[in-house]
Amino acid sequence: MKLYKIKKSNIDRKGRGLYAARDIKAGIKIIDYVGNIITKKQTENSDKFDNSKPIYLFNLNNRYDLDGDVSWNIARLINHSCSNNCEYEGKGLKLWVTSIKDIKKGEEITCDYGFGYDSDYKQFPCKCKSKNCCGYIVRTDSRWRINKKFKKNIRINR
Ligand SMILES: [Zn+2]
Repeated sequence: MKLYKIKKSNIDRKGRGLYAARDIKAGIKIIDYVGNIITKKQTENSDKFDNSKPIYLFNLNNRYDLDGDVSWNIARLINHSCSNNCEYEGKGLKLWVTSIKDIKKGEEITCDYGFGYDSDYKQFPCKCKSKNCCGYIVRTDSRWRINKKFKKNIRINR
C-alpha cells in the first residue's frame, strides 16, 4: 500500500499536494524524488531555471543536477511548509523524501524547499499557516532576516 495519496492541497489552493494515506512514523522513506539528471552546464544554459527559483532543481553533486519538473515525478506535488514533516534525502544520484516527524493519516506531507534569502523572496509567499511561518518560502536558518522573532531559535539551534 502506498503511504500517500494525491489530493487538493490546503496550503497551495491552486494546486495539489500529497497526504498521508495512513499513520507514518518518523524516519520512513515515503516516495522517490525522480526526474531528469542533467549536467550543471545544461542547468546554466537552460532558460527554464533563469527567472524562477529552482523549486524542482536539486544539486546531486558537483557535476549533475536533478530536474524534477516532469509529469512522472509525483513527489514534485509536495508543498513547502515552515513546519515541514518530511525532508529530501539523497545518496549518489538518488533522491527521496523521508518523514522527520510522526505523521497522522490525512495530514499533508510537506518539505522545506530550502530557498536562501535574497532580494526576490517576496515572489514566494508561504501559506502554510504554521507557527513557524515567516510568510515567505525561505529556509529555516534565513527566516530571521524577514522576521526578527526567528532569531532566538537560531541561537538555540547552534
Ligand atoms: Zn510557512
